[in-house]
Amino acid sequence: MNKLHRMGALLLSAVAVLGLAFSASAATLPDDVQAIVKRGELRVGVKSDVPGFSMQDLSGDYAGMEVDLSRKIAEAMGLKPDKVAFTAVTAKTRGQLLDNGDIDMVLATFTITPERKNIWNFSSAYYTDAVSLLVKKNGGVKNYADLTGKLIGVAEGSTSKDALIAAAKENGVTLTDTDNIQTFPDYPSIKAALDAGQVQAFCVDGSILSGYLDPSTEILTTVRFAPQDYGVATKLSNKGLASFVEELIVKWLADGTIDAIIADNKVAPSFKK
Ligand code: GLU
Repeated sequence: MNKLHRMGALLLSAVAVLGLAFSASAATLPDDVQAIVKRGELRVGVKSDVPGFSMQDLSGDYAGMEVDLSRKIAEAMGLKPDKVAFTAVTAKTRGQLLDNGDIDMVLATFTITPERKNIWNFSSAYYTDAVSLLVKKNGGVKNYADLTGKLIGVAEGSTSKDALIAAAKENGVTLTDTDNIQTFPDYPSIKAALDAGQVQAFCVDGSILSGYLDPSTEILTTVRFAPQDYGVATKLSNKGLASFVEELIVKWLADGTIDAIIADNKVAPSFKK
């Protein structure tokens, strides 16, 4: 290599090193996180009717552990905690809103399942709940055996139907999709059907049922099954955002931050499997 070539090679490697250093500092946050920071607001899908998790009040404000967790994620991105735009989602709408790009993430009692992990990214679980039944106090349903010949309301897009059929089977009771299950688009319509006597039980996670409890109904504490691990979901292609969130959740699980958020919101500790 002659002198000129050597100098050229040196110059090239200096440019490469500089370039690397520059891109490393500009890209401390993954591109998909940077895009959120640049926009100036984090868009999160939450429930509007789950006490302690995410409830929307009459003035439109949200409160609950999933709301607090969303604000902490925004802060970790360098945004102010109030720079979170919340959208109310249901079991039916949350996945599509993510896929459309309308929201950046979902923190909405969204159970991590192997099938769902093929469609969206999920963080580690920040909470675990069990599935249960809301029934009329005088409705004659107290245990699995009482479900024979009854109609049970479940929400479209939820894990509840399969979980209930499996748990009943383990307890010696055969329930079928056609004879025992009625699917509804949302929870208020299941509660209305329960009140009207069209279904004899409302099946979903206990945390969600507690939002529909009233003096005429009870949640069967003896019928609790299928632990549901709630994770933060992101669009499958947003891998940088998913690993950014995963690092935070793992850190906050280890250092007690998540336990404190759960306790602050008066939510019962996670269901022990
Ligand atoms: N957590 C359950 C699920 O993800 C129940 C539905 C819901 O979250 O609304 O399917």
